[in-house]
Amino acid sequence: MKYIVQNSSSTYQTVIEEVINQNKDKIFDFFEHVEIDLPFNVYIYDSIESLVEGLHKRGFSKEPDYMCACFKDEDCSLNFFEPKDKPNENEWSKDDYKKVIFHELVHGIQFLIYGYTSEWINEGIANYLDGTYQKGIPWLMENYIKNNQSLIKKRSKKNLDAVTMIVMIMLISCFVI
Ligand SMILES: [Zn+2]
Repeated sequence: MKYIVQNSSSTYQTVIEEVINQNKDKIFDFFEHVEIDLPFNVYIYDSIESLVEGLHKRGFSKEPDYMCACFKDEDCSLNFFEPKDKPNENEWSKDDYKKVIFHELVHGIQFLIYGYTSEWINEGIANYLDGTYQKGIPWLMENYIKNNQSLIKKRSKKNLDAVTMIVMIMLISCFVI
């Protein structure tokens, strides 16, 4: 593995290495696959803003602002940032972020074994392994809405049209029957 660290005086690389080393066999076990070398390029940015900016500069322009980490199969990279030591309640703490590192590692290892697979299956497996689904349906729905706010706004007009159509069809069918 190769580490590309934005802030050379940071020691956060050791935390990431630790999460990877402590969890990789668990992930290979889940996929019932022998352990193989991890050829990842691990990028560690200074802040969540520099992570998004750095990805944009590297040509991944579709990354949304709320994104906090990702695996990119194009250059086999795991992309992280170093959370603050004293984050506010809306920011990632170093402790919570360990789950994110694990989640992206699942994506990375799955890609090494199976190559490209659909997003629903990738997220399904990673969320299952990182314990996200144990948080329950209300949390999952709230989180989905939070992460898709801009998407929902864009789609709301289309959805409204679809709802109007369905209501009209129902009304018409009432008269027909
Ligand atoms: Zn994911």
